Amino acid sequence: DTSKETLGFQTEVKQLLQLMIHSLYSNREIFLRELISNASDACDKLRFEALHNAALFEGDSDFKIRISFDKDAKTLTIADNGVGMSREEVITNLGTIAKSGTREFFSKLSGDEKKDASLIGQFGVGFYSSFIVADKVTVHTRRAGAEPNQGVRWESEGTGEFTIEMVDRPIRGTEITLHLKEGQDDLLSSWKLKSIIRKYSDHIVQPIVMKGEKWDDEKKEQVATDEDETVNQASALWARSKNDITDEQYKEFYKHVGHDFEDPLTWTHARVEGKTEYTQLLYVPARAPFDMWDRNARHGVKLYVRRVFIMDDAEQLMPLYLRFVRGIVDSADLPLNVSREILQESKDIESIRNGCTKKVLGMLESLANSEDAAEKEKYAKFWGEFGRVLKEGMGEDHANKDKIAALLRFASTQADTPDETVSLADYIGRMKPEQEKIYYVTAETFNAAKNSPHLEVFRKKGIEVILLSDRVDEWVVSHLTEFEGKQLVSVAKGGLDLGKLEDEAEKKEQESAAGEFKELTEKIAKSLGERAKEVRVTHRLTDSPACLVADEHDVSGNLARILKAAGQ
Ligand code: ADP
Ligand code: MG
Repeated sequence: DTSKETLGFQTEVKQLLQLMIHSLYSNREIFLRELISNASDACDKLRFEALHNAALFEGDSDFKIRISFDKDAKTLTIADNGVGMSREEVITNLGTIAKSGTREFFSKLSGDEKKDASLIGQFGVGFYSSFIVADKVTVHTRRAGAEPNQGVRWESEGTGEFTIEMVDRPIRGTEITLHLKEGQDDLLSSWKLKSIIRKYSDHIVQPIVMKGEKWDDEKKEQVATDEDETVNQASALWARSKNDITDEQYKEFYKHVGHDFEDPLTWTHARVEGKTEYTQLLYVPARAPFDMWDRNARHGVKLYVRRVFIMDDAEQLMPLYLRFVRGIVDSADLPLNVSREILQESKDIESIRNGCTKKVLGMLESLANSEDAAEKEKYAKFWGEFGRVLKEGMGEDHANKDKIAALLRFASTQADTPDETVSLADYIGRMKPEQEKIYYVTAETFNAAKNSPHLEVFRKKGIEVILLSDRVDEWVVSHLTEFEGKQLVSVAKGGLDLGKLEDEAEKKEQESAAGEFKELTEKIAKSLGERAKEVRVTHRLTDSPACLVADEHDVSGNLARILKAAGQ
């Protein structure tokens, strides 16, 4: 069907557009970064597809992103010779939000512009940010390899709907024309555009070109010449030497690869030599994405082979518990025609994954152990955002278990607040001289943990206990039985043996009490029948008359509750 059709945006798109236009206006220049980022991705995609099918190049393999403007028409155009889009792709990509985490995002919106603006940033602004500065956007595109009559024209005023029709388009790729709103005339200037490009898009690998300008004496203004001028550095940022890259450039590159709007929390950049050679540039975002708990979400580390883009979210490059890491790995050894299937078996990939994992854990370790207050603060922020994901690593990554254990942070009876700030090393540093074990309690909520009757004897003796109330904590402690030679034990399990913390007098007292109350405990045991294995006198309690304990080798009471809730 070639005739013009009018289609409605998905409801969420309409909402997003409204929000974006109102809350991101003060940041309006970012639309250009988003459109250039998409153009660059489209070139990368074509380069990759053409590895298997060179005909897709249609004789032109020099990628370019062109920015031009028309002062009279008040339009700004961003064009690329990347992979382009088919009609169906246009309808999906520019009419819906096809992203995991969308529902969560919309459920978090508050209606408060300031708060929502930062949420949109977190969610990703993308193509729709065009409507911050434009009141009409026209897209012409044709997919690489398709017939010239398979061009698509999409147009919208960013309100409720868009039109779509088939057109002739001899050249492949995408051209996006923004019809600027009133008051955006300052964007119709080479000088202004170049400065925006250099600020946000300098790291883009493809050349971003504009027509040169010269002074016209008659018109008394700058006029365009026929010559192209490349505005950005147009080289792979990660291949440059660290000393030649500013923090600003690292941050802008992150926004492109991470599809993020905010600065990253931290990053690491290194060239690894030896048996396998590769460059890694890995970032930890400042905030968790909306789809972090969706195990099918994009992974975020891109794979390049000798600077040629190979694939997005190469899941083999990072273990699942580090799925929040963004960035690139550029391998010197892999073949260009590497496929996902090959990656699964590749020894090179295995050693790259091990190397990247170590690198990320090392980066977190140095943040956590830094003497610098700002760095330490960063680690606290990291823990707040990603701590729960990192905990998964305790069961997933046996080889790095000790490293991960050292990165864990807990609440404890020392501060008695829910803030997770205590490391196992801190805990050990504060242990009583005669204390041999690390004690913890697990419960459904922080308050339940904090008020657990099992803690009474520990509070009385001034022994710190780690307070666990996260669902994954049960799982963590099932894998973390020991840290630096100290056993981790639940205060709610078994016949609690406090070892040297217990004095002889207390033991004697308990024994005699057991005799004294024999009749009572037997009576209770009888009336509880099957429901209790054993009833005994304890010295654990100081205020409460009784408490439940699990047998040493049984699942804990809290885990039993979790399993029951899960229907097992
Ligand atoms: P994101 O880049 O995070 O995927 P965007 O909103 O920026 O989100 O873009 C949505 C989708 O539209 C892209 O994933 C891509 O498939 C498509 N797209 C956007 N711009 C282009 C382009 N210049 N060429 C080809 N496809 C594009
Ligand atoms: Mg994008």
